Amino acid sequence: MVKERARILVVGGGYVGMYTALRLQKKLKPEIKQGKVEVTVVTPDSYMTYQPFLPEAAAGSISPRHVVVPLRRVLDGCRVVVGEVRSIDHAKRTATFTTLATEDEGAGRQQLAYDELVLAPGSVSRTLPIPGLAEHAIGFKTVEEAIGLRNHVIEQMDIASSTRDPAVRDAALTFVFVGGGYAGVEALAELEDMARYASRYYHNVRPEDMKWILVEASDRILPEVGEEMGRYTVSQLRRRNIDVRLHTRLESCADRTAVLSDGARFPTRTVVWTAGVKPNPVVAATDLPLTERGRLKCTAELQIEGTPHAWAAGDAAAVPDVTADTPGTETAPNAQHALRQAKVLAENIARSLHGEPLQTYSHKYVGSVASLGLHKGVAHVYGRRLKGYPAWFMHRVYHLSRVPTFNRKARVLAEWTLSGLFKREIVSLGSLEHPRAEFELAAGGKPPVDSDNDPKGSS
Ligand SMILES: Cc1cc2nc3c(=O)[nH]c(=O)nc-3n(C[C@H](O)[C@H](O)[C@H](O)COP(=O)(O)OP(=O)(O)OC[C@H]3O[C@@H](n4cnc5c(N)ncnc54)[C@H](O)[C@@H]3O)c2cc1C
Repeated sequence: MVKERARILVVGGGYVGMYTALRLQKKLKPEIKQGKVEVTVVTPDSYMTYQPFLPEAAAGSISPRHVVVPLRRVLDGCRVVVGEVRSIDHAKRTATFTTLATEDEGAGRQQLAYDELVLAPGSVSRTLPIPGLAEHAIGFKTVEEAIGLRNHVIEQMDIASSTRDPAVRDAALTFVFVGGGYAGVEALAELEDMARYASRYYHNVRPEDMKWILVEASDRILPEVGEEMGRYTVSQLRRRNIDVRLHTRLESCADRTAVLSDGARFPTRTVVWTAGVKPNPVVAATDLPLTERGRLKCTAELQIEGTPHAWAAGDAAAVPDVTADTPGTETAPNAQHALRQAKVLAENIARSLHGEPLQTYSHKYVGSVASLGLHKGVAHVYGRRLKGYPAWFMHRVYHLSRVPTFNRKARVLAEWTLSGLFKREIVSLGSLEHPRAEFELAAGGKPPVDSDNDPKGSS
């Protein structure tokens, strides 16, 4: 039994937030029922995103709503608040947050008092001050970005098919991805595969008309699958005519032209930025200790250093990797750690409330699997290396076993099975992003100008 009443605040409804809350509602069920423990999850979206499925969502192999998990449904023992935490004063055990209603109410930020804090806001794209990047590039971390990018790629093919201007056509069919980690490589490989397939339905767009470029600053891609498999991935992508440029940086993408550090210039309407992540900036709006790289300083028990009743894990947390040979190594920001850390974190909160000793987080990275398009993949897991179809199959089996809830697993499996029987979906539903456009036009308003789709906007 817990000694005192505990209000637990979980910031973030991603991997760490959702799994921690799930475990807490299970472990502390009697206390929650008696009103002795209260778990509140504050998160900007009412769903958790299973990010490893975003590339497949972009390719159209999984519907967008099946890569997300509805938090209100799975966290029925918790209070879910759709809002954004803005600051935390842990000394006073209070957080401020805003909700969708904040602006309408005009009352400003709301305050929330807590006894235990779980800070898991994840990461955001790590950008650089590159001219044109903020104006023209897109990231690949959310389901909105993945679906927006899918629609955009198909729209570019439509533009290329309908324009009589070769410069417009060339820019529309050039796709530049910056960053060779799994997000960038999988997104590029899946979208290229989808576009290659879609091109058979265009009378004047052939796969060889498209330029797919991967720009990576270091000498390798996909470090998650090891050096050998990384080299294999480069050769596979090049065989598909994908232009992989190692030791190369994006220097500018202003005026709709991607300028690279090797001097190459590509007029393009598509720059996807997947060059790493940094901790969510909300961690800086707290009185909690941060490392030089801005992550929350944690102990191996997932407590924030020197601050009792504050816990963290996942991409925003610097957790010591106790399995590493070099002291001072931190666990990498990936789902493999986030998921396992969440379990230990919830266990440790329950233990601390019960006055029991805490567990140490210890997990040796087991490798990774990556999909490179339909029936293509690469894997390096538990020392075993796989390529092509077996790796792709393993990728699917692994992620199907990992995606939360039986409901999601069944829906994803059904979709994969159906897509094996029927042709792939190749429509762009970009107009979903402007649902009022048609009505506004009918009602006499001006149609919205979408600079992205305006050929005059491109160079
Ligand atoms: C395209 C892609 C593919 C990936 N594939 C793999 C893979 O194959 N294998 C692997 O191991 N890892 C993969 N990852 C990485 C993995 O998804 C992350 O490491 C993992 O999601 C980190 O978990 P987290 O809980 O720390 O952050 P997240 O899961 O990102 O959750 C953070 C949550 O906090 C919320 N939040 C943000 N700001 C606030 C705020 N101010 N107040 C309240 N809530 C806030 C966010 O909305 C989100 O719900 C991939 C990532 C991407 C983008």
